[in-house]
Amino acid sequence: MEQLGLLDEIKRLSKPFGKITVLRDDMSVVGTITGNSKHMDHQQRYGHYGQCITRPDLYNILLSKIPKERIHLGKRFVNSHNINDPATGVCTQVQVRCSDGSFYAADVLVGADGASSAVRQSLFRWIKEESGNGTGHGHGQKPLPKQDLEEQQYRQVALVGVSNPLNLKRYPDLGETFSQFKVILSRHSPYMNWFMPVLGNRYCWLVTRTLEKPIRILSDNSKESEWGPDATDEMSKAIRHLKGPDEGGQGTMGDLIDATDRQLISKVMLEERVFKTWYGGRTVLLGDERSVYRKGRKRVDAGCSGAGIPTSRQHASINHLELYSSTFNNNINIITSTTRSTTVQ
Ligand SMILES: Cc1cc2nc3c(=O)[nH]c(=O)nc-3n(C[C@H](O)[C@H](O)[C@H](O)COP(=O)(O)OP(=O)(O)OC[C@H]3O[C@@H](n4cnc5c(N)ncnc54)[C@H](O)[C@@H]3O)c2cc1C
Repeated sequence: MEQLGLLDEIKRLSKPFGKITVLRDDMSVVGTITGNSKHMDHQQRYGHYGQCITRPDLYNILLSKIPKERIHLGKRFVNSHNINDPATGVCTQVQVRCSDGSFYAADVLVGADGASSAVRQSLFRWIKEESGNGTGHGHGQKPLPKQDLEEQQYRQVALVGVSNPLNLKRYPDLGETFSQFKVILSRHSPYMNWFMPVLGNRYCWLVTRTLEKPIRILSDNSKESEWGPDATDEMSKAIRHLKGPDEGGQGTMGDLIDATDRQLISKVMLEERVFKTWYGGRTVLLGDERSVYRKGRKRVDAGCSGAGIPTSRQHASINHLELYSSTFNNNINIITSTTRSTTVQ
């Protein structure tokens, strides 16, 4: 963020990370992880604190830096083809097809379409074809490593939200300069609750539920019944009784859900996975579609997934941007399936 010149604006709309306190459901403390103590100060150690910001605020900052005519909203990527020069066999161009029938040709395609990335699926198809699909009749492309061929599964679902401004007397954590996360582990249920204070006396909140059995991810498993508004309401009801972030532990999740606009609550699935392959031909992958450590499904934009963003130089995605920035120059086009330029969908 510092290298992109975005850090000052992000700091203005966020809180530095202070600590995580892990509690049992009787509110006794299991332990703490600190980011600004005498013994462990992230700024001294890494150059910056992590900054806690809501996803809509982060999106608005990013969007304000990109010329509007470069963003084509409501475009769904369907597939891409890396085009080889017939004389040399070298890949020289990539063509993209969108669901509205439009085509784009480019020198480089950067896929940043999240955990269930269609760009990654297209790239992997191309690599399989070019490597001969195990038939020995390929074009010199190395086959995909075994790790990338394993089926995707998720083991946790979560409900995420960003509350409206809350009363500081009831939730004094929200008045602190540093964001002090609270995590409540339930001993006798599959739930875990996260509360992350952000600017404007609000909480980003997250409740995860561990499933008894992992569920296979299919390219079409976005059934409205599992991830649509009804599923969100159903999970909201199921977790109302869980402990809220109140001092003393009297309040419930229900209080926080009632203090959160309905369109700012989303149900998501979580998956931890790192793909080895992140480029091929003229396509490169960026963000979650490369390292799926958490997988969102449907309207995650509303939620708290931007709660902590690394500002230090170690962040891999930033390095990728640097790598390709000279190629992009001013001719970058961004296509996104998002239909509005505002961030709350
Ligand atoms: C519950 C949860 C909590 C998290 N908490 C944190 C946290 O505290 N801190 C943190 O740093 N990270 C957190 N993460 C992870 C973080 O949200 C992701 O790493 C990050 O959002 C990944 O960004 P991305 O751009 O790769 O993908 P996404 O944010 O998923 O964006 C993908 C975009 O591509 C668009 N798209 C999808 N398919 C197509 C298509 N076919 N054509 C065109 N556009 C398409 C989507 O509409 C979307 O706008 C969390 C994630 C979850 C799920």
